[in-house]
Amino acid sequence: MALHRSPWPVAVAAGVLLALVSVAGCSDGGPPKPTAVPVNQGDQGGGADDAWTAEARDAVHVVDDFWRSHWNQHFTGAYRSPKVVGTYTPNTPQAPRCGSEPATPYNAFYCPAGDFIAWDGKLMRDGYAQGDSWVYLVIAHEWGHAVQRRVLGLRDVAQELQADCLAGATLFGSEELRFEPGDTDELAQALTALADESPWTNSQDHGNADQRLSAFSTGGRGGVDACLPS
Ligand SMILES: [Zn+2]
Repeated sequence: MALHRSPWPVAVAAGVLLALVSVAGCSDGGPPKPTAVPVNQGDQGGGADDAWTAEARDAVHVVDDFWRSHWNQHFTGAYRSPKVVGTYTPNTPQAPRCGSEPATPYNAFYCPAGDFIAWDGKLMRDGYAQGDSWVYLVIAHEWGHAVQRRVLGLRDVAQELQADCLAGATLFGSEELRFEPGDTDELAQALTALADESPWTNSQDHGNADQRLSAFSTGGRGGVDACLPS
């Protein structure tokens, strides 16, 4: 997973540059690629909260920018971003509620009632241990539910696979992101490793790893239109 530097606003580019410096400081000595900026080497560290937290911030920007700039190619009306509550610790007073429902441990979700996205830090940390693309998948998938809520009406497993498809369309379609072939292998590993461990990877609700990656690839190859009912 790599971000392109050029389309980013100055403030963000400065942050990316700082990330590049810190990555270069602990790299194994290979020369940095000229056109791609590795923000984090998720498969090297995998643990530190600040690494995946920074990645989550980038992912929110990338996904929001994608939908803002592509919305009217697919849908009518104005684009509205969902709110991002972000990281929660379950069973604490600070954990968000969706209506009367408390936030579930080891999950990430979109709450239609509050129109917000939130995730348990532990789910992000464990998935990120397999690679940085995990954080992008989770956020792009939940954003997909916000899109569904705005314009579509699917339910159940079909809805979950459609959110994966929209995530693929978002991440592969983003002008700010380069989604690399190894990233899908990392996602496959994370989805398999976490299968049925988390509500977010429960295969009954979401489909199994193969189905999820297949939906993700459909969106990646065909774009948003490939995810919509014909
Ligand atoms: Zn979902």
